[in-house]
Amino acid sequence: MVDLNQALQQAHQIVFMTGAGVSTASGIPDYRSETGVYAGKKNAEYMLSHDNFIQHPADYWHFVKENLYFPQAQPNIIHQKMAQIANQKGLVITQNVDGLDRKAGCKNLVEFHGTLYDTYCTKCGQAVDWHEYLQDYRHQNCGGIIRSSIVLYGESINENSISRSLQAVAAADLIIVVGTSFQVYPFAGLIQYRQEAAQLIAINKTPLPMPTGGEMIVADAVDTFKGVTVK
Ligand SMILES: [Zn+2]
Repeated sequence: MVDLNQALQQAHQIVFMTGAGVSTASGIPDYRSETGVYAGKKNAEYMLSHDNFIQHPADYWHFVKENLYFPQAQPNIIHQKMAQIANQKGLVITQNVDGLDRKAGCKNLVEFHGTLYDTYCTKCGQAVDWHEYLQDYRHQNCGGIIRSSIVLYGESINENSISRSLQAVAAADLIIVVGTSFQVYPFAGLIQYRQEAAQLIAINKTPLPMPTGGEMIVADAVDTFKGVTVK
């Protein structure tokens, strides 16, 4: 089996690519499992769409407030160790919008799908504290609609996030995929930009179909990261 610590120590540029599976241990539901955000809700993707946000801002706001915000959640050992390693020699590219990588102190970070905790008024452009957004989606100063930077269905990924991610993946000699299933594009497509010689390791509770040359660690990522030593 692949020696994760050895791989981490030998690598010069490491990219972690993560998804919902790294935050479930912090009490944040994923999207598509039996207990996920979408469970029992037929219209969840519509609720999180640009169309719904524009046409029914109150419905959108209620859905997001009730289902996505967990401001009390704390980073777990996966976020913490990834942050320490990435700050030394790498980057975390996360699909998560929960802000836990930031809370863990990660400075080399791309929040690929935005974050719930950057909120602003769509009318006057002013940054608004997310606490205020959770009280009311209308901006007190101007009456405009407040939103977060999360990327909704029907919206494009921020170009700066894409270019930073592509550069990092192309420069990496080690890519570690954790807590995500390679099924959400364009995120999953980033992998294609890796160097041929780059080592690719995925950590997931269930086996994933892996690109050629990739190595799979089938395990609970919390257990795996407990065993990671950071120098
Ligand atoms: Zn405003």
